[in-house]
Amino acid sequence: MKRIVLLAHPAGHSLSPTMHNAALLHLDIPARYEALDVPPEGLPGAVEELRGPEFLGANVSVPHKVVVAQLVDELSGSADTVGAVNTVVNCGGHLTGHNTDGSGFLRGLADIGFDPEGSRVLLLGAGGAAKGVAAALLRAGVSRLAVYNRTTARAVELAETFSHLGPVEPVVAGGLEGSLGWAQLLVNATTVGMEHGVDTEASPLPGGLVPRQGVVVDLIYRPERTRLLRESELAGLVVQNGLPMLVYQGAEAFEIWLGRAAPTETMFAAIRTALL
Ligand code: NAP
Repeated sequence: MKRIVLLAHPAGHSLSPTMHNAALLHLDIPARYEALDVPPEGLPGAVEELRGPEFLGANVSVPHKVVVAQLVDELSGSADTVGAVNTVVNCGGHLTGHNTDGSGFLRGLADIGFDPEGSRVLLLGAGGAAKGVAAALLRAGVSRLAVYNRTTARAVELAETFSHLGPVEPVVAGGLEGSLGWAQLLVNATTVGMEHGVDTEASPLPGGLVPRQGVVVDLIYRPERTRLLRESELAGLVVQNGLPMLVYQGAEAFEIWLGRAAPTETMFAAIRTALL
């Protein structure tokens, strides 16, 4: 029996074992996926263990994504650009780090028929998820990407880091309302609105602002509809929560470990059941 593990801390709340074990079972693959709660001091040892022949690879989640990028032997282009790894593949003891968050996000956009090429995007947040989404959108050829963050300095830094990939700019004081006016896609990559967070009932748009046009994607999937998505739906906009990104980043990882198409319908169904 081959093994795939999730390295995270904490790891107990993750839905990844549910969707990956459903996929492995569906395709009759003799492997199992398990979540390991690995504190930071245990991370180097846990990554070394992945070189063993029983391991196909691993997923990596908070807070280890950046450190793992320094512990593997090689990085794919996506992981190198973002400086973070969410997927590791073991090939005969050689570990390669990938980042499937951005490509998973783009697959979710395709589901609602949104083609980012040539489009104008407003991204809220400048943390790990925002970086993956920003790099993917710039690589997909957006014509303008504005990044708004509570801590403006982090938006400025993100824009500087990714400026070689395409037209990205920080939103500075007073610029948010104007950005909402031209953006065709609004993406929330902050934690504002997340279940069990301090801001569950809040919107990431300050000052009572609401989106007025286009498509709104919130990377949050618990709750199913954040305040931002509820307000956007009321305004008649097309909305999507974080579930497609979650499933598709997992599907891309599955395809890297196993070299075959992931059964995404099975993965969606397993997660929807788990979220009931
Ligand atoms: P992170 O690195 O901790 O970044 C958090 C971001 O939220 C920062 O930009 C932070 O701004 C902002 N923020 C936090 N509290 C805020 C507040 N009260 N008001 C305004 N902004 C606030 O987190 P992450 O890993 O990027 O995750 C961000 C979100 O994406 C989470 O909800 C996570 O669940 C979701 N996510 C979803 C998927 C998926 O597959 N669907 C994948 C990855 C992440 P500051 O810089 O000012 O602190």
